[in-house]
Amino acid sequence: MTSSDCLFCKIVAGEIPHDTVYETDTVLAFWDITPRANVHVLVIPKTHQDTLAQMAGEDAASVAELFTAAGEVARLEGIDESGYRVVSNVGADAGQEVFHVHVHVLGAQQLGPVGP
Ligand code: C5P
Repeated sequence: MTSSDCLFCKIVAGEIPHDTVYETDTVLAFWDITPRANVHVLVIPKTHQDTLAQMAGEDAASVAELFTAAGEVARLEGIDESGYRVVSNVGADAGQEVFHVHVHVLGAQQLGPVGP
């Protein structure tokens, strides 16, 4: 399923330029356009789901694929040994801006505590 006005569906379709880090048949990882860490990569499913919570309820195996891909991104970016953060904003209070499931992979520096 795709959503015709979804930004990340357009990235998957190749309609918006992006810097791919890793890709499988089902997952795409690319640099965040506004990196907030020395490594800041987004991992998204190629099929549209609004939020991680929605995906977890409907297709838990795809959630596992996202986290497996996040680990692969960390390995490719050379931060798997030093440590990194995987985070997903779910809904308005978390500040989710793009309603197509994504996890942020952040690292290559000392990160602050998780919090508001
Ligand atoms: O979790 P949230 O929805 O807030 O994150 C969306 C992310 O998508 C932001 O970090 C933003 O910089 C990124 N983005 C992007 N390319 C775009 C639009 C947004 O990487 N064209």
